[in-house]
Parts: sequence; C-alpha cells; structure tokens
Amino acid sequence: MNTRRLFARSRLQLAFWYALVMGGILTLLGLGVYRAIVQANWMALEREVESIAGTLHDSLEPMLPRNASPTGVLQKMLPDLCLINQPCQVTPTLIERHTLGISDRRLYYIRLFDYQGNLLAFSPNQPSSLSPIFNKEIWQTIQPPKGDRYRQFTTILHSAGNTNQSSWGYLQIGRSLAAFDTENQRILWILGISLPLALALVALSSWGLARLAMRPIYQSYQQQQQFTANAAHELRSPLASLLATVEAVLRIDSSHSPEINTMLNTVERQGRRLSQLITDLLLLSRLEQETTVEDWRVCCLNDLVSDLAEEFLELAIAADIDLSSDVTSKEIYVLGNESQLYRLVSNLIANAIQYTTVGENIRITLTSSEEIATITVQDTGIGIALDQQERIFERFYRINRDRSRKTGGTGLGLAIAQAITVKHQGVLNVESELGQGSWFTIQLPIVSASMAHS
Ligand code: ADP
Repeated sequence: MNTRRLFARSRLQLAFWYALVMGGILTLLGLGVYRAIVQANWMALEREVESIAGTLHDSLEPMLPRNASPTGVLQKMLPDLCLINQPCQVTPTLIERHTLGISDRRLYYIRLFDYQGNLLAFSPNQPSSLSPIFNKEIWQTIQPPKGDRYRQFTTILHSAGNTNQSSWGYLQIGRSLAAFDTENQRILWILGISLPLALALVALSSWGLARLAMRPIYQSYQQQQQFTANAAHELRSPLASLLATVEAVLRIDSSHSPEINTMLNTVERQGRRLSQLITDLLLLSRLEQETTVEDWRVCCLNDLVSDLAEEFLELAIAADIDLSSDVTSKEIYVLGNESQLYRLVSNLIANAIQYTTVGENIRITLTSSEEIATITVQDTGIGIALDQQERIFERFYRINRDRSRKTGGTGLGLAIAQAITVKHQGVLNVESELGQGSWFTIQLPIVSASMAHS
C-alpha cells in the first residue's frame, strides 16, 4: 500500500479509536451526572412530602375522637376537604392553617381513611382516576392514564389518648411530580444537545491529535526510507565498478586457470543479482514515496503487450513453452509511466515462464470494457496454493525459495507489479490452482481516444 495512504489510514484509525473511547467516557459521565441529579431531586421531593405529612399528622392526632364518628371533627379541622357521601363545599381560605409549610397547595392532595381502609375525606384536587380503595404501601407512585404523576406517602394516625396504640386511621398525602418530570426532561434536552456537540468536538480534536501523534512516526519512517534509498545508492557505485573490473579481468586475461575463471564468473553472477536487487529496492522505494505523476503520458497498451509478447517469445521457445498472445484490434490507451507499465507486465510474463514446465502454454491477452483495460497472463504451470495467493505480493516472499533462487528470483517481482498497478489506480488479481496453472489479471482505467490523440 502507498505510504501516504497507509499513514492516512493509521491516522484515521487512531482518531476513530480516540474519539470512540473519549466519546464513551463522556457519555457515561453525562448519564452518571443525569442520574445523580434525578436521584437528588427525588430524595428532596420525598423529604418534603414526608415533612408535610409529619406536620399534618402532629396537628391532627391530638384532635381525633377516640370512637365517635369523625365526620364532624374532620369538617371542623379540615374544612378544605370533601367528606365522603357529602356535598363538597370548599372554603379555601381556611386550608392554609392546616397545611403549614406547603408552598403551593395545588401540588398536593390529602386523603383520610379509617382504620378499616374506608375513605373518609379527600381534597378536591386529587387525581380523578385515583382509586378510593386503600393501599397500605408507605411510598407509591401514582401514574394516572392522563395528567401528572404523583408521589404518595401513607402514615398511620392514632386518636387522642389512645393507649393501646391501635390506629385511628390513615393519612395519605400526594405530591404532583409534574415539576420533577419537567426538570428531568429539561436536563435530558440539555444532555441531548450538548452531548452530540461534545462528541463532534472530541472527533475533531481526535483528528488533530492523531495528526500530532503520527507526525514523529511519519518523520522517522521517512528518515528510514531516505536511509534505505541512500544506502542503495551508495552500494550501487562500488558494485558497478566491481562488476566492471571482473568483466575486464575475464576479458583481458585468458591465462587464468579454469578454477579462477569459474570463481570470477560466480562473482559476476552474484554481483549482477545484487545489482538487480538494489535496483528493485530503489524502484519500490520510489514508487511508495513519489506522489507526482509529472512524467506520465498516454501509453498504448496494444503496442506494449505485443512488444512484450514478441520480446519473451525467444525465451519461451528456449524453455520449450508455447507462448501466444491475443491483443484486441481496438486501440486501448492508459495514462501512466510507460517504463513502469512495461515492468509490470514483463514481471508477470517472466514469472509465467519461470514457473511453467516444458511443453505447457502461456497466453497473454488484452481486452477492454467501456472504462477498464484488462491484461491477463495465463499459464498452465505449477500453480499457487490458495493460502499462498495473498502472500506472494509481499516483499521477498517466495513459495519455494530454492527454486526461486535457482531461477534468479528475489521475491520482489510481484511486490513491484502490485505497487505499479496501485500507483496507476489499477487492480492486480491472481486466480490459481496448484498443478493446474495461474491466471494473473491487471485492470487499469482507460483514457479516451480523443485525449490519446490530443
Ligand atoms: P520471484 O522473484 O521469486 O519470482 P515474485 O514476487 O515474482 O518473486 O513471486 C513470488 C512467488 O510467487 C514466487 O516465488 C513464486 O513461487 C510464486 N509465483 C509467481 N508467479 C507465479 C506463477 N505464474 N506460477 C506459479 N507461481 C508463481
């Protein structure tokens, strides 16, 4: 993969994970704060209800008759309440005396039950759907089908002078949860708006921070690439002069013993191999570093494929392999670096010849669809196992090292082919079956004929 694209992808991944972790922490924090606020409001509300119930309880208890019907007493004590089975006449001015501490009476309702659980009195503003059947539970949340929710508290009342502690009845006080719910809704809205905003900010800053984090890595990578390129350059000159010297010695002095001649030939062969390796490494490094396409021009693929088929024919005949080509008559042009495109296709043909045995076939074709040119190099050679097919494009990867070394392979041929294809916005694929042969396909974007002739 192109270095720049690789670094861009790493930066994106880094930013993504950073944003995801920070976003997760922020969301958890937001939900935690929301929960704490709701809990605090809830507890404050219950404390308030409990304290009002206590005040009422304390002021009611000493006045409650022991056995007599409580109706008269209740009417006197709480004229604001409606008595059961009696017309409800409210004189609101009096209630304040009995509901000390209640800041807004509309928020509360009161209900009185006898000790058997029969409803005796209730405030007229109680929710209409509230059941008259007594429920002993101390805390209840009333959820009417329509309207506000209520939190209801139930406490026992004892009549005055009651020594055996049996209850006179029950007092229920309910408080509307409308304000509480509205407040919760408000907090949820604030969170709902601020959280996505915060997440967007986190994503933006992650992108920036990932750039900062990647910078030293990118610089050190570039330094390393530069070092490799420089080292390869430095190695090239002494190697070239060494080879020239060996060649000269071999040519001039024919009086060597056959052993020395063999040794010098080996030195020359290895030197050439090393030189080829350095050239390949330099090309790969350039392909990854360079982003400029200044030297690109329109190339005719028909000529390129025909030339290469002709060039390799001799080699194929020597190896007793049947090499044929099928190039479409329609002219196909692509934009690119011609010598690199030659290198790309020649690497595949050279491999096909190397990994095909005597008497087998190699077929090279060039076809095109509307926008894509397709070059295939197909052989009936040794084939490649499925698990190796991904790996053969890695640098220095060779399936059978001994065989590759014998044929002079370095394991860089397909890595170079892949890098050239990617640089030309193309795709290189392989299909192969062990013992049956391989099918390499190069797909490249076509340029229009008018552009080719302009
Ligand atoms: P090498 O220089 O060793 O040929 P390449 O990168 O060109 O390196 O190829 C990598 C490996 O892929 C080779 O070692 C070889 O085993 C396998 N390979 C490549 N082309 C073919 C082919 N046409 N048929 C079978 N195996 C192939």
